[in-house]
Amino acid sequence: MSTVYRAMFEIMSVDKFSLEKVLSVHRWSDNLFSFTMTRPAHFKFTAGQFARIGLKVADDLVVRAYSVVSSPYDETLEFFSIVVPDGAFTSQLQHLKVGDELYLEKVPYGFLTLARYQAPAPKDLWLLATGTGLAPFISMLQDFETWQKYQNIHLIYSVRTAAELAYVDRITEIVELFAEGHEGFKFVPIITRDPQAELHDRLPVLIENGQLEKTVGLDFDPASTHIMLCGNPQMVEDTRDALKARGLTMNRRGEGNIAVENYW
Ligand code: NAP
Repeated sequence: MSTVYRAMFEIMSVDKFSLEKVLSVHRWSDNLFSFTMTRPAHFKFTAGQFARIGLKVADDLVVRAYSVVSSPYDETLEFFSIVVPDGAFTSQLQHLKVGDELYLEKVPYGFLTLARYQAPAPKDLWLLATGTGLAPFISMLQDFETWQKYQNIHLIYSVRTAAELAYVDRITEIVELFAEGHEGFKFVPIITRDPQAELHDRLPVLIENGQLEKTVGLDFDPASTHIMLCGNPQMVEDTRDALKARGLTMNRRGEGNIAVENYW
């Protein structure tokens, strides 16, 4: 999802979209919520991709990009959102109710998918998220292929406060359902504004001082590591630099360790 979408207040032709119904809304905290909606048969996506969702504001269609939380095999589509103060889109979206209608662009977007990796061969997968950037990783973890491909899977999730740690129970359920016999999964929450939390430094610091590797018990090995970053754009930039300093490379044309997606 590029920053192009952030400032966007687009008027688009509605025939690129289908009209879908909201099926459920879940509120995690004052500023975080998720929702599910109907999935049209034509909407096919790969885990890690994002959809473009539209809302009618007055006579305009305002569109934003949202990574899909649900698995490519689910019958419905789920999304995870923050309320952006005074945001044209989420300030409306936060009032979403079951039965409301949303526009869904007919095709998905994005390259934060496991299929992009040709080399190195898959062995260790690190999924590093801040905030709502967790969404694409929940989708990937609900795909059996992810568990078959990787010997070690580490989901690292940085939030400001414990109240913002969404999807924790769901992660436990996913592991029970998808990871039978898989010994290499670790979930590591980071709570940056709680000095009592076991891990409370930002991701680049935890990489630089070796604490992240120590916590999961595995080093970043350029020969066997795939790392995905999703969330706060500054986090993506700073973490990418910290990883490059450790000898990991950006994935280009299929080769290299690091793949990234900015969440806004
Ligand atoms: P956030 O500020 O992105 O914080 C989430 C986690 O990322 C926290 O642990 C935070 O640590 C960490 N973090 C922030 N900057 C970092 C960096 N440079 N390197 C490493 N870690 C970093 O929180 P959020 O609740 O997801 O979003 C905050 C703001 O972003 C909101 O005010 C919202 O307006 C905006 N936002 C917009 C969109 C959108 O437009 N679609 C989506 C998401 C968020 P610290 O506690 O140390 O800061």
